[in-house]
Amino acid sequence: TCGICVEKCPFDAIEIINLPQELQEEPAHRYGENAFSLYGLPAPQEGQVTGILGPNGIGKTTAVRILAGELEPNLGRYEESPDWDEVLEAYRGTELQDYIADVRDGEITVARKPQYVDQIPKQFDGNTRQLLEQTDERDALDSLVERLSIGPVMDQAIEDLSGGELQRVAIAATLARDTDFYFLDEITPYLDIGQRVTAARLIRELAEDEGKSMLVVEHDLAILDLLADTLHVAYGEPGAYGVITSPKSVRNGINEYLSGYLDNENMRIRQNPIEFEEHAPRTATHGDVLVDYPDLSKSYGEGEFSLEIKGGEIHRNEVLGIVGPNGIGKSTFAKLLTGNLDTDEGDADLDLDISYKPQYVTIDQHMRVDAFLSSITDQFGSSYWNTEIAQPLQLERIMEQNLSDLSGGERQRVAIAACLSDSADLYLLDEPSAHLDVEQRVQATSAIRRYAEQQDATVMVIDHDTYMIDLLADRLMVFDGEPAVHGHASQPQPMRDGMNEFLANLEVTFRRDERTSRPRINKPDSQLDREQKREGEYYYSP
Ligand code: ADP
Ligand code: ADP
Repeated sequence: TCGICVEKCPFDAIEIINLPQELQEEPAHRYGENAFSLYGLPAPQEGQVTGILGPNGIGKTTAVRILAGELEPNLGRYEESPDWDEVLEAYRGTELQDYIADVRDGEITVARKPQYVDQIPKQFDGNTRQLLEQTDERDALDSLVERLSIGPVMDQAIEDLSGGELQRVAIAATLARDTDFYFLDEITPYLDIGQRVTAARLIRELAEDEGKSMLVVEHDLAILDLLADTLHVAYGEPGAYGVITSPKSVRNGINEYLSGYLDNENMRIRQNPIEFEEHAPRTATHGDVLVDYPDLSKSYGEGEFSLEIKGGEIHRNEVLGIVGPNGIGKSTFAKLLTGNLDTDEGDADLDLDISYKPQYVTIDQHMRVDAFLSSITDQFGSSYWNTEIAQPLQLERIMEQNLSDLSGGERQRVAIAACLSDSADLYLLDEPSAHLDVEQRVQATSAIRRYAEQQDATVMVIDHDTYMIDLLADRLMVFDGEPAVHGHASQPQPMRDGMNEFLANLEVTFRRDERTSRPRINKPDSQLDREQKREGEYYYSP
């Protein structure tokens, strides 16, 4: 080993080219002997949005507690902590000097949006209006409520809000405060793309118009790209140590992260790069029809939500992406196909074996992960299964845990593994990115894609993460309509046409990064944005 790692090389025994510079220096903080150490700190800047990109457990919250003045950094000297003056001395001449001086003098005020919004109802007893009125220090509430479409749930009890509603209320409550420093730990969970873009714009406006310092952790790369001015990449061994790099430009930070190699740090963080091919169809896709389905319709009760699906074909060996806003009927469609729900009109019984991962993963029996997965496939434990499923989904470490003890992200990874391990004609994954950090997302995405290619499998994926859809899908099915009222699904169509239709509804345009071909959201009303809208090219710049 290189002498840093506690048990095993965090980078899967990749040769570590150089000991990172940061690890030769003293950490910003160490919790105790053999406890987690954090190297480096992000540097918030007035009038800017600073992003942090990296897995969970790498010290992001620790860093924020330091910047908020809640945790006095001990510079690794956990036995005899230095005082703030010594800390300040250690940061003299760095970007953080002025900021640390303000923290020492108690002059920094902070507003924080927690990562797990599901916890909010346990801490607040009351309705949305009461919660938001407490935080309205900038007299901005009306506009936040309007832009985040919170109006309909203003008088609803916090404990009755859905995940997406809670997330938007939490974002509004944070942005309504009047502080120097705002920290938002993930803004996208439970939100659809339109809502994600709106939240990102609100955060940017607070930096640009009010000169505030914004720090954001985000695992949706397209949104992070739109949001941030500069980016710190965080890497290391979750639970053991974390390194927060010096700031990079957002473009370079994301490109380096995807390539698996950090240039300035001279550091490999992943064995394989994540590569975007410009909608190249898979060679295995010959357009053979696996199944065709007729027009379908479904409504829930009198005057409640109604859905119409235009009949179409699912091709053998394709990955079909499914996109659309929340509440538009995507999960209803999945349940119709799997026979979990009956149609009103049209026969959805496709006579296919379908392996289905629902949006809300409910595996929580008292059973160990290894016992559960080996009951699904006799491939369990084979070298193929280990390489293609267990490793990329990081299952090794949780094999001996009980399903009922897993975190949301762990449960998601087990559910994806279970879905892919089953033998079926069609694999249907509803929101596989939910609860996964950025590294788990890119790994899960490549696991699903490789599995589809190597097994000649037919896969349908519903997701809001544009990178995941772009990397995975050969064709696209687009849902539109009026959320919670009425939904309509188009026939599956080529990626380019589908994305154009979908993004035109949202008035968002993407271009391709020149170096990596990854999709990047254009700044609204920028020259490219206007040009692409004029030409109707919402997704691929010519
Ligand atoms: P992130 O926000 O990136 O998920 P955190 O900063 O919350 O990471 O945690 C990083 C590591 O530090 C975790 O392994 C966590 O268990 C550990 N840790 C956090 N707080 C303490 C503490 N007070 N004492 C010891 N270890 C801690
Ligand atoms: P999506 O997956 O696109 O977010 P869903 O298919 O989950 O959308 O839901 C579409 C609409 O149908 C929503 O307004 C939802 O509240 C409503 N809905 C879903 N299931 C039921 C049900 N069992 N009874 C009544 N309404 C439902």
